[in-house]
Amino acid sequence: MSARHSLGNERFEAVLVRIETATGRPCRRNGDTVQCHCPAHDDANPSLSVSVRDDGGVLLHCHAGCESKAILSALNLTWHDLRADSPRASRVVAATYDYTNANARLLFQVVRFDPKSFAQRRPDGNGGWIWNIKNVQRPLYRLPELLTADKSSWVFVPEGEKDADNLRALGLVATCNPGGAGKWGKLADDSALHGRRVAIIADADAAGQKHAQDVAQRLHDKAAELRVFEMPDGRKDATAWIESRDSLGPDDLRRALIEMAENAPVWTQKTAENAAPLPDPEVRRIAQSVGRYSVNVDSNAFPLTETGNAEFTVALYGERLRYDHRRRRWLVWAEDWWVDDNNKEVTRLAIDAARSLSENLGFPRGV
Ligand SMILES: [Zn+2]
Repeated sequence: MSARHSLGNERFEAVLVRIETATGRPCRRNGDTVQCHCPAHDDANPSLSVSVRDDGGVLLHCHAGCESKAILSALNLTWHDLRADSPRASRVVAATYDYTNANARLLFQVVRFDPKSFAQRRPDGNGGWIWNIKNVQRPLYRLPELLTADKSSWVFVPEGEKDADNLRALGLVATCNPGGAGKWGKLADDSALHGRRVAIIADADAAGQKHAQDVAQRLHDKAAELRVFEMPDGRKDATAWIESRDSLGPDDLRRALIEMAENAPVWTQKTAENAAPLPDPEVRRIAQSVGRYSVNVDSNAFPLTETGNAEFTVALYGERLRYDHRRRRWLVWAEDWWVDDNNKEVTRLAIDAARSLSENLGFPRGV
């Protein structure tokens, strides 16, 4: 056994993070040897030695006698994850987000890993974790703060916890549902938002827009005010926008976000249902400017009708767009299903394609 290669070994570091996350206590590095509290028994003194094997894999040894199998189980890892060629254990915990009941009792955590993926875990009652939230009630994120916040403040509702935390860091009230887009309906209760001024920030993609509309629909007639908007300048979400404004201080950022909420149109069921089925003259104009540079698509082949517009745009961006002639609506491919577009993705795709084409060909931006 050699511990010489432990420093800078990503798998090794990731296992240490796992142990620290599971035990809630830091591992101690003593040269190349690392001592941790054992996650598999009630460990007053750090009795788990962690080292790197000659083959690059990770070795766990509990001096109190716990079997490796029990230690792995407490870490939600398998033998395979300790092997030198395993990719899975190399993900590290990037952040944890607590979900509590109204009295601030921890119900579960959402864990974000790097590379980006998510898992959920709940306390097992013995200082460890159970890696699922089966039969656990799902509250709004940061529920106690939401309940005590000034009722006249805007409550910002982005898609995920990272955005909510970044908004909160600016002094705003923010919440979201666990699980991200499409999971609002699994909340135990969203009554903390009833009677409140709610500003929903839609992620700038089809799934994000669909989620924002779903949230608005569910809070319709319950929230005192309801606004839905996207971040300006094509930024994907609140975090991306805040990061793009690094010259502004928190007060300016907070004021700007409140202004966005105030200036966003009031959301009503009627406006959502009556949204125009096509962005026509605009998309037609953009699509034609793309078509001029496209060798594959002749814009003149499509009649100047609504159906012609639709078919022309589908010819250009067919894999990601469909036009439902019967319902006169655009549908956009959102990872694994077709969703109503409300026109925004169509416009975005057309503009993106037009820009990249005109730039690649050395044309000035025409749109
Ligand atoms: Zn042990």
